[in-house]
Amino acid sequence: MLVKIAAVVVAAGSGSRMGTKAKKQFLTLDGTPLVGYALKILDASHMIGSIIVVVSPGDEEYCRKAVVDRLGINKAATIVPGGKERQDSVYNGLLALSHDTDIVVVHDGARPFFSSAILESVIEAAQAHGAATCAVPAKDTVKLAGEDGFVTGTLPRGCTWLVQTPQAFRYELIIEAHRRAREDNFLAADDAALVELMNKPVKIVMGSYDNIKITTPEDMVVARTIIRESAR
Ligand code: C5P
Repeated sequence: MLVKIAAVVVAAGSGSRMGTKAKKQFLTLDGTPLVGYALKILDASHMIGSIIVVVSPGDEEYCRKAVVDRLGINKAATIVPGGKERQDSVYNGLLALSHDTDIVVVHDGARPFFSSAILESVIEAAQAHGAATCAVPAKDTVKLAGEDGFVTGTLPRGCTWLVQTPQAFRYELIIEAHRRAREDNFLAADDAALVELMNKPVKIVMGSYDNIKITTPEDMVVARTIIRESAR
């Protein structure tokens, strides 16, 4: 049986921490709009059948012309408006998926440097376990602290991971996880957390330290270095 795999790429953030007039997802990095990097990797993957792009309301036409058409992203036929929070944007993307989707890959448009190998391993882990995320081991010790700035605990070294996207899920599971989170007014920074709330397993696969999320102007400097190094 052919497995139907779709990707939801969220790029509807305000990008205010970038401090530029243009929205960060459309800033060009080495001539390519930021969100275009992820779309190119997904478009080239033989595993991905279709891509839903989620952008800020009103940016749909611009994204179609300046990114999807310009880069020839054939699988991104649908562009939908996002919501207030990232979770709302993912939910809008999920609603645009065809109901016979088997596996959904969710990816931040602000992460240009994941690889097809990471994509494949996260999809395979979702097929086997229901939900999966890529992540890298935290190199520093991670402490918990209260709002008063005092440490309340130290997480054991070797058990702490920095979570990235792509994340992948069985379609029914991620739809149900989002519905429940909305009912409970539960807001999380990533989709795997919504599956965790249902006490369902989430498998970690190895991501990459290059798979950074572009948030502030410093990240653009790091991104240019990554591009330069990868071209060597
Ligand atoms: O700002 P944050 O780190 O949460 O953004 C992660 C990703 O989620 C980015 O690609 C951003 O464009 C997207 N996002 C979104 N809708 C929002 C907020 C963030 O699609 N309302």
